[in-house]
Amino acid sequence: MRPSTEVAQVEAHDAHDAHTDTIVAIATPPGVGAVGIVRLSGPQAFAIGRALFRPARRIPESVYPPSHLLTYGHIIDPNSGEIVDEVLIAFLRAPRTYTREDMVEINAHGGPLILRRIVELALAAGARAAQPGELTLRAFLNGRIDLTQAEGVMALINAGSDAGRRLALRQMQGDLSARVQAARTAALGALTRIEASIDFPEEEVPPPDPAELGDLMAQARDEIAGLLAGAESGRILREGLRVAIVGRPNVGKSSLLNALLGVERAIVTPIAGTTRDTVEEAAQINGVALHLVDTAGLTATDDPVERLGVERSRTAAREADLLLLTVDGSQPLTELDGQVATDLHALLGEEGAPVILVMNKADLPRAINEEEAQALWPGAPVVHTSALERAGVAALEEEIVRMALGGAAQAADALVSAARHRDALRRADEQLAAAQATLANTLPLDFVSVDLRAALEALGEITGESATADLLDRIFAEFCIGK
Ligand code: GDP
Repeated sequence: MRPSTEVAQVEAHDAHDAHTDTIVAIATPPGVGAVGIVRLSGPQAFAIGRALFRPARRIPESVYPPSHLLTYGHIIDPNSGEIVDEVLIAFLRAPRTYTREDMVEINAHGGPLILRRIVELALAAGARAAQPGELTLRAFLNGRIDLTQAEGVMALINAGSDAGRRLALRQMQGDLSARVQAARTAALGALTRIEASIDFPEEEVPPPDPAELGDLMAQARDEIAGLLAGAESGRILREGLRVAIVGRPNVGKSSLLNALLGVERAIVTPIAGTTRDTVEEAAQINGVALHLVDTAGLTATDDPVERLGVERSRTAAREADLLLLTVDGSQPLTELDGQVATDLHALLGEEGAPVILVMNKADLPRAINEEEAQALWPGAPVVHTSALERAGVAALEEEIVRMALGGAAQAADALVSAARHRDALRRADEQLAAAQATLANTLPLDFVSVDLRAALEALGEITGESATADLLDRIFAEFCIGK
């Protein structure tokens, strides 16, 4: 269940009105744990918390409940006086809380029945069960965080790699918002200058200077271009890098996958063509998540069993951010090596993902030189490895990160990682380009202002100023209960 669209809309419009109801949720994951946490937020949080809690020591009313301190005592059923659990409770007075409302956090024992009982008692005392992400939604509606920061919270919780975690943390702390706001401020500067002259034509407002308007729009576009430049790195840092290992049977693809993983996972056999299907594993290089796919074969075949594997391999190759075209350096190239390269070319087209040529089996005497291997994929960097002896793997990893992220500097600049943000930035940029063109064509300033408004609307979708109730619904539906 999500908050209804109308409710969210009303709330979004009255972002600074306090909420009248108090919500309760279990904040720890389902199942048994050492500790379980029940959270309350809203104007009745303290009253409900006090009704359910009996401190172990008498605390003078003048200092009770103490804010932002843990107090030891018991949760009791206020009707029967029955003790439900022994707990530590924190009363957190607004506004220095996650939601900016009064909050209570009850640290109980982590049994599902205990936690559910505490929630029931809170419901009976007047609380309402929280929706997924509703605490974070309140933090957003109460103006403590903007939408990118709320999304950052979720990305941080769900981060699958160290790089993804760091990126999410920066987003949560408002780094992305600040950059989007900078673009907004410039675009808004242009708009206000135009509108002032439209609204008060007779008064002392001079017509805006087109050069100044042009500068402001260019500033906004620069800011957006900077953000978009890091978007691909951002996506990779967040979602991980998809790497497909391709090559004819027996060149050592599975062995290479294992070497990159550092553990034996794919089945390695000396019989050609045993990796029938794609094998996918996850690893990390320099904190970046790596989705490694060992492909079976790319050539269409009549064998129905093989066909499935080939189809999967082709999909994996097409979707990869980077490909490792692997050859056996201890053998002369075969027709099959050429076939794999040709198939790959046909599959990727001209604008395909980058390719690294891996000359494997470097522990054996070399039968081909780099030029011969490179003829398979002109321009691709060549890396020598011995998957068997795990040699050259570090150099390969370095090359993978360099090719995929274009150097550490670009990765450090990455702030945009979600498709939603990238799309909105692109739209804002298109509208700004349209505004510039309108200005250049000396069309009436009203027309320029229409384009600028559309650009501001798109930027506002990112931070949440112009987010629709639908969008909020979709974003917060991804959250867990109690967050
Ligand atoms: P795939 O069919 O391309 O996945 O190749 P495998 O990883 O199954 O390896 C095929 C054979 O080559 C196995 O016997 C491996 O032990 C062997 N092999 C793989 N990598 C190397 C290597 O770097 N050096 C040597 N000497 N043998 C290797």
